[in-house]
Amino acid sequence: MTVTGAAPIRASEALRKKLAKIGLHCEADLLVHLPLRYEDETRITPVARAATGQPVQVEVVVRHSETQFRPRRQLVVHAGDESGEITLRFFSFYPSQQAALAAGARIRAFGEVRGGFFGAEMVHPRFHKVLEGEALPEAMTPVYPSTAGLANSALQKLIARALAEGDLSETLPEALRDELRLPGLARSLRFLHMPPPGTPLETLHVRNHPAWRRVKFDEVLAQQLSLRRAYLARREQGAPVLVARDNLGARLLDSLPFGLTGAQLRAMAEIAADLAQPYPMQRLLQGDVGAGKTIVAALAACQAISAGWQAAFMAPTEILAEQHYLKLSAWLAPLGVKVAWLSGSLRSRAKREQLAATAADAQLIVGTHALIQDGVDFARLGLAIVDEQHRFGVAQRLALRKKGNNPHQLMMSATPIPRTLAMSYYADLDVTVLDELPPGRTPIRTRLVADNRRDDVIGFVRKQVDEGRQAYWVCPLIEESEALQLQTAEETYARLAEELPELRIGLVHGRMKADEKQTAMAAFAAGEIDVLVATTVIEVGVDVPNASLMVIEHAERFGLSQLHQLRGRVGRGSYDSSCVLIYAGPLGETARQRLKIIYENTDGFEIARQDLRLRGPGEFVGSRQSGVPLLRYADLEMDADLVEMARGCAESLLRDAPELAEKHLARWLGSREELLKS
Ligand code: ADP
Ligand code: MG
Repeated sequence: MTVTGAAPIRASEALRKKLAKIGLHCEADLLVHLPLRYEDETRITPVARAATGQPVQVEVVVRHSETQFRPRRQLVVHAGDESGEITLRFFSFYPSQQAALAAGARIRAFGEVRGGFFGAEMVHPRFHKVLEGEALPEAMTPVYPSTAGLANSALQKLIARALAEGDLSETLPEALRDELRLPGLARSLRFLHMPPPGTPLETLHVRNHPAWRRVKFDEVLAQQLSLRRAYLARREQGAPVLVARDNLGARLLDSLPFGLTGAQLRAMAEIAADLAQPYPMQRLLQGDVGAGKTIVAALAACQAISAGWQAAFMAPTEILAEQHYLKLSAWLAPLGVKVAWLSGSLRSRAKREQLAATAADAQLIVGTHALIQDGVDFARLGLAIVDEQHRFGVAQRLALRKKGNNPHQLMMSATPIPRTLAMSYYADLDVTVLDELPPGRTPIRTRLVADNRRDDVIGFVRKQVDEGRQAYWVCPLIEESEALQLQTAEETYARLAEELPELRIGLVHGRMKADEKQTAMAAFAAGEIDVLVATTVIEVGVDVPNASLMVIEHAERFGLSQLHQLRGRVGRGSYDSSCVLIYAGPLGETARQRLKIIYENTDGFEIARQDLRLRGPGEFVGSRQSGVPLLRYADLEMDADLVEMARGCAESLLRDAPELAEKHLARWLGSREELLKS
């Protein structure tokens, strides 16, 4: 990686390599490499009072030192001060250290003192030789995040030099700082790297000291600036102005058996306004499973089509893409719209036809990743719709965009994420939330059942089918092995077929060929199968209103959002629906919490919020997906107010003081910013 805009760190080649390992490339990086914790070496504790359970510093004179070989090789040093005696023990040591600890030496040792059988004892203390009366350090000792072979003292030295010589100039205008009640940057950084004696370490370690708040704010601000700038840059590009030239959208609405919800109407209006702008829309449509995103997307497509452009609709799995294709065709083909279908499973002749249509007169093109392959040419792509966008990588979404000349983009996601997280990770998008489910949905009853009561569940399945309903039976997730997963699915299938001989049982799993999956799904949708045994391939998007029961085996192995998505497969019609979570004990603490959360909540946003608390944001969104580096210091839950503040501040800084914004970005992202531009 090349480092630009900042001086490389002045250090030996070998040292620089180690620094690079922990992301330290330039002098500016050193300034914001902050301590994990501190050790207080500004004070001496008398040996007699040293056993506090906290690390302390003692100053002692060595009485006697020797190497012992039992029970294992070790250096044992007897030492003491006026108040008492202490043993220092080292299990690995260099000859130079042994020499430094010879009788008569005066040393300062830092570590935790334990009262052992032979009196007070320190194991592997950090120590150095001193002269009698030597001055104590004037600041706490910072302990930095490091890597193997990189001594804390080396980092300390480099960072102290960077603090003395580096650029600590302010990037927040004073008025703003006052308004936000944040201390100055230089002061904050000096304080955090070298807290003065007497600073209560507690407030530093929990990181709610004003100096920490300032640093965390700056970090969040850098993230917001970077995403916002990318957003504005994309806005600079021109895009086709999609103004409807006929009443296609209105005719689609007329043909539906339902009216839109208020939330759908609002989303539709926002999207319609975006599409009519001369710059590309960058909108994320978020809505819980079943909120009705597809029709909103279809209406957006109508606007593009009726303006004389093409719309593309990409979904992450074959099954889901096909469902969309069938549904969108059913809606739009009768209105005279030409719909094309592209998927990996097409045979070559059909594929040639669909490709030709895409390059010519197809108006809506639905498909999987097949849409972004080389050799797929769109005649006039004006709108790119991506369903379940978090299932795609940044590069894939970009590839779809590249199929047109700055088309508008509509991304959809059924993984609701909490507001602060959305603000942080999606600061480069406009976000619309469908916060209302279509009316007439019956709530889904969730039951937790221990696996020794599986027979009851079988009985329940039979009863549902007797009433004319259908059921999903999801097999245990086996993350370690796809082969094992497949085997389990086949066993579950065989076992259910045996236990429910009078029912028609089907099976879909990830290893089946696309057309086999299709056939099974289609049969289930058509009501020719009563119970569909499935791996998690049915997780996203499928829509069978007659299915009223979802059974999930080994529910304790699934993540919260997966459970929520799976549960959302039922309750889509007007029938009483349930979700049965079969679990096998004993449950670990996290698994227990997950099951409790899914049992107690139906609102996807609330589940997401609790999931965030359980897992932390890194795993939640995944840095790879968003391209946004994880925040090092700020915590999105604890520092939610900072995210709010930084968002507004980023806007005003980019507008009123772009040079400060640049400087701020260089300081915080420096060499890392290239990563964000992907
Ligand atoms: P999701 O947001 O999970 O993608 P879908 O778009 O698949 O949800 O919609 C779920 C079901 O609800 C579909 O059968 C759809 O036709 C239906 N639907 C969508 N909007 C409404 C509405 N306003 N009233 C009634 N049913 C609706
Ligand atoms: Mg959907």
